[in-house]
Amino acid sequence: MVAPIKPKAGPRHVKTFHEALALSSRRLGFSVTQGCPLRCAHCSVGAAPELHANRYASSFTQRIVDQMPEIAAAGITSIDFTGGEPTLMPRFLGEVSAAAAEHGISCGLVTAANWAIGDRQARAMVKRLEAIDHWDISTDRYHLEFVPLSAVERAFRLLQDAGKEPLIRIAHHEPIEFEDATLIDQVMRFAGRSVAFQPIGPVGRGDQVVVAEAADDFNWDAGPCPTTGLLVQWNGRVAPCCAPASHETHSHPLWLGNANTSRMVDILESWRIHPLIQTIRVWGFRPLREWFKEAGLLDGHTLRQRVCDQCVQWLRDPTLVEHAAGRAAELEHRIRLAAALKAHFDEPWLDLALRREATSYLNTGRWPAPTLRAA
Ligand code: SF4
Ligand code: SF4
Repeated sequence: MVAPIKPKAGPRHVKTFHEALALSSRRLGFSVTQGCPLRCAHCSVGAAPELHANRYASSFTQRIVDQMPEIAAAGITSIDFTGGEPTLMPRFLGEVSAAAAEHGISCGLVTAANWAIGDRQARAMVKRLEAIDHWDISTDRYHLEFVPLSAVERAFRLLQDAGKEPLIRIAHHEPIEFEDATLIDQVMRFAGRSVAFQPIGPVGRGDQVVVAEAADDFNWDAGPCPTTGLLVQWNGRVAPCCAPASHETHSHPLWLGNANTSRMVDILESWRIHPLIQTIRVWGFRPLREWFKEAGLLDGHTLRQRVCDQCVQWLRDPTLVEHAAGRAAELEHRIRLAAALKAHFDEPWLDLALRREATSYLNTGRWPAPTLRAA
């Protein structure tokens, strides 16, 4: 009997929060469609069956495949697929993951396992996406209305048999309610400890199900931004993360351009040197709070018990956003940030951008405009 191939290491294998944060500069995310056969009441992206047309153009598959050598050369080690339901676009997933695997990049997927209602269809999906190593199967009390637990279990076992690393992701209310706990028990009977938990957030349709808890100066979330790296949305627009900020569709400075027109490595460079994204990734919202205090704007920033919720509150206030963007772009701050990025994550990119600016100054006698975007 041939031993199953061991999946490549990926985000699943990090041991600490710090390692996860460090890995975010080496991950790419693709949210391939807003379509989903399910319509869960808590869906953070508001996915639904009638949104199937909101997906990557067919030419986008080849565009990403063609860029895979330079994506790998830029140090990307993991690619994640999400949606909506990403398996609605098996060609994109299959071809991009195969190209990634050729370059030693591990791929992961989040799916509701609606394709595992029947055994034959489930086997076909696992075979078609054989280059994807890490499969996160979402279930919770809202998914169960559309996908029975028997399908989730079938997907889990098939993936295990295929040598993959399935994980069941369970979204729950906070504090956990009896219905959530009952489901967790049922899942752990077949998945053991291959489960992960995430609280339902007040984002998308989720804001009809839970409310964001307000916080004060003593209990606000002063932790760092937990981004898992940039996310290319179905229309090519690039968000700084797959978390709530990616659903704030209005114009704000955390958007990183469009993958239909820019190269992925340039967008990646913009993320890696972005003064605001990197400030909150290293220090959380403390520096921004200091800037707001100095400018008499502190009362405008609503504090929340989760950092991503207060990030969204901040992004919705143009005065605060503009002020923070100006302060983060200052040379003195970017020098401190470059040093912190090297010390915390061993990342050279902002340091190198500043050295290019300094070279330009030495050659011309004028300090150039700050490098906030890749060339
Ligand atoms: S939560 Fe997931 S499965 Fe449910 S509608 Fe949203 S994308 Fe689809
Ligand atoms: S803090 Fe903001 S940018 Fe960071 S992951 Fe949360 S929502 Fe995204």
